[in-house]
Amino acid sequence: MLMKFNFLGGADMVGRMGMTIEGDNKRLLVEYGMSPTKPPEYPIMAPRVDHVFLTHCHLDHCGMIPAICGRDNCELFTTPLSAEISEIMMYDSLKIAKAEGYPEPYTTGDIERTMKCVAPLTFEDTIELGKIDVTLHDAGHVPGAAMFEFKCDYNTIYTGDIHTADQGLVYGAKPIKCKNLFIEGTYGGRNHPDKNATINSFIAKIDEVIDRGGIVIIPCFAVGRTQEIMMLLRNLGYDMWVDGMGRSVTNLFLDYPEYLREPKALKQAKRVFNEIRNSGMRKHATKGQIIVTTGGMLDGGPVLGYLRALRENPKNAILLVGYQAEDTNGRMLMEKGCITMDGEIVKIECEVQKYDFSAHAGHDELVNFIRKSDPENVIIMHSETRELFLPDLQDYNVILPECGKEFELDI
Ligand SMILES: [Zn+2]
Ligand SMILES: [Zn+2]
Repeated sequence: MLMKFNFLGGADMVGRMGMTIEGDNKRLLVEYGMSPTKPPEYPIMAPRVDHVFLTHCHLDHCGMIPAICGRDNCELFTTPLSAEISEIMMYDSLKIAKAEGYPEPYTTGDIERTMKCVAPLTFEDTIELGKIDVTLHDAGHVPGAAMFEFKCDYNTIYTGDIHTADQGLVYGAKPIKCKNLFIEGTYGGRNHPDKNATINSFIAKIDEVIDRGGIVIIPCFAVGRTQEIMMLLRNLGYDMWVDGMGRSVTNLFLDYPEYLREPKALKQAKRVFNEIRNSGMRKHATKGQIIVTTGGMLDGGPVLGYLRALRENPKNAILLVGYQAEDTNGRMLMEKGCITMDGEIVKIECEVQKYDFSAHAGHDELVNFIRKSDPENVIIMHSETRELFLPDLQDYNVILPECGKEFELDI
């Protein structure tokens, strides 16, 4: 059946995803996110839709869904874990908009209505929507993250964000034979260094900093990275603290052990880390040895308080374990050794190191995944370097969609 596809955002960038699928007398919306930049950026406004599909809870995929489900009261298909974490993310992004003085893109009432729209599905569940059957599969990105398989005359896969290698929290995604493959391309042109080598040098650095009497600060994203790092460090025996939104996400992960590769390991990690439950406890953490805390790009969250207290001691270290976008404190720290705090640029005397713990597949892993999926059409999205895939994909019809430019596919 011939269907029309239109990207509303996220085709040629990592951020603000959104795509409509139209035909068979209905319109579907696959993801609707935001870019948490300053000011935040949103996708093209979605027309009325009948159903929404959400792959996972990161803001670039879920951040604007309340504007649609709150308006259209349409079913939202996603895993129950992604729905619960998305709810936290949505309230948090409203809070940030308010605090920063940006217009709020939806209301708390919209979030409440959105949560009532959730039709929870788990991996391998299938729903029938007219002539199209939709099945969820594990995307191997963060716990609860799904790929969607649309089955009509042929198979169409929409990956969302994926990793194909196993991580501490989840197993890697498995390719599925299809005719049309919508795949993320975040790491176009780049491969990850060897994971074990990264882990070894990360832990060696932590030992070194603690040996010289310093404190290790690890700024982390709340969803996935905080828990990956906690699991990695759980047997080191140091005095370790965890702060920020990652704590409530850890509890949600533990509420849904079926989405975790090793729930026991996460439970154990939670037990050995001291949790910061109120701001009064933070001074204890600054006398400890390791602090894992949001925000991952140092643009907000408790990490700024820790930097204020610890930034002048060169024995201390900041170990960056996530992507640092342009125009963020994290990027400025890497490039210039300073950050903006309370409206002023301040020098950070601590050692700064960066480690690759990405939850996305690298270039070669993506190409491998594409070959094993054996598609006719490959549609690359969620990427600023999509052209770099072209030399490796000469056997396929590659589509590099542009936002707002409709195209048709036989599905
Ligand atoms: Zn993601
Ligand atoms: Zn993403």
